[in-house]
Amino acid sequence: MIYLDNNATTRVAPEVVEAMLPFLTDGYFNPSSLYAPAEEVHRHIEEARASIARAIGALPTEVLFTSCASESNNTALFGAVQAGGLNSRGEPRRHIITTAVEHPAVLEVVRRLRTLGYDVTELPVNRAGQLDPADFVRALRPDETLIVSIMHANNETGVIFPVSELARITKQTDEAIIFHTDATQSMTKLPIDLAGEMKNVDLLSFSGHKFHAPKGVGALFIRRGTPLRPFLYGGHQEGGQRAGTENVPYIIGMAKAVELAAATHSEDAQRMTALRDRLEKRLVESIPYLEVNGGGAERMPNTLNVACHAVEGESLLMSLAEAGICASSGSACTSGSLEPSHVLRAMAVPSTAIHGNLRFSLSRYTTEEQIDTVAEVFPKIVASLRQLSPFWNDHQQRPDFSSWQSELEKKYAKDQAAPEG
Ligand code: PLP
Repeated sequence: MIYLDNNATTRVAPEVVEAMLPFLTDGYFNPSSLYAPAEEVHRHIEEARASIARAIGALPTEVLFTSCASESNNTALFGAVQAGGLNSRGEPRRHIITTAVEHPAVLEVVRRLRTLGYDVTELPVNRAGQLDPADFVRALRPDETLIVSIMHANNETGVIFPVSELARITKQTDEAIIFHTDATQSMTKLPIDLAGEMKNVDLLSFSGHKFHAPKGVGALFIRRGTPLRPFLYGGHQEGGQRAGTENVPYIIGMAKAVELAAATHSEDAQRMTALRDRLEKRLVESIPYLEVNGGGAERMPNTLNVACHAVEGESLLMSLAEAGICASSGSACTSGSLEPSHVLRAMAVPSTAIHGNLRFSLSRYTTEEQIDTVAEVFPKIVASLRQLSPFWNDHQQRPDFSSWQSELEKKYAKDQAAPEG
């Protein structure tokens, strides 16, 4: 099997499993208990916290363990709202800024907050998936904006947002505005220095399973002094900031995964970039009408998002799976109708290509041989699916791309408008 879906989740590193095992067997004690073996477990958690804090330039007390990035994002946003930042007139701040391309673990939270009376600005992106800093500056409302939540790197396209710069602008505009970033995809893949470049970021979310730790553990960095109410009540754990007995083995595993990544970060990034670029080049050369989504922007080293005109992502995925290749598509097939990715829609990817979208995401375990196999197999799959497409065949007779594309646009618009079921 060739696994190129590492932005969805990653395999657990063998060293991580090894580090976790003692805490799944003999070291099962509740870290809050007051006898020596339990205190020993507690000590290991605090070591894990200190190690993760060191890796991101934080203080140990600024690292809150959670169950996943979704929980971290919910804690950041609901926690900030609950803490109820006030403006200079003593009234609650009710404005939130985010982007149209956030993960649903942010977008759905802010949309929920909108129904509760918060005013939410969703910043648009351009065709390459980039934000316009001028839009951001215009969106900031001194004395009114409560929190900004802008992701570090996009999970679908890998496009990187300049969060350090946006956080700096935020604090220059109004020191009291809280700046949150969802770093779920960038953690361990891009440098994160909360004492340096990112010193204006107040809250930062991530999740272990994106970097070779298991699913079910994450963290939220909370800069000292940031007003934040707990999201989970009912226990004194995590300094009273999150109730619930700590997931000891997974916390230990996540710290190990961070350490492993720190040791090989720059080599891994270089290798993944070279392999990703190799794949991209070969696909662009061998597949006509292929779009590289986010290709014009600064991207994470491991992500390649392509869109092929006149084929469906689901058919591509199924054919790839038959060839033993795991990738993913931005569109979800629900009740027979295709719901295109909100990220690609925000990027105004033409509807003729948005449905033929596919994401390949690499890891440090991806090999050159695997990339070459995909580069060999994928163009053949696209060609054979296009042979089955009446639109593609029509195009072959009449190779005028723009009129062909506008016909396809109309077809897709009609399909979209058709009732489901
Ligand atoms: N944020 C981003 C950018 C993601 O890519 C994901 C998962 O894909 C999440 C949040 C949610 O992560 P988790 O599954 O750990 O809740």
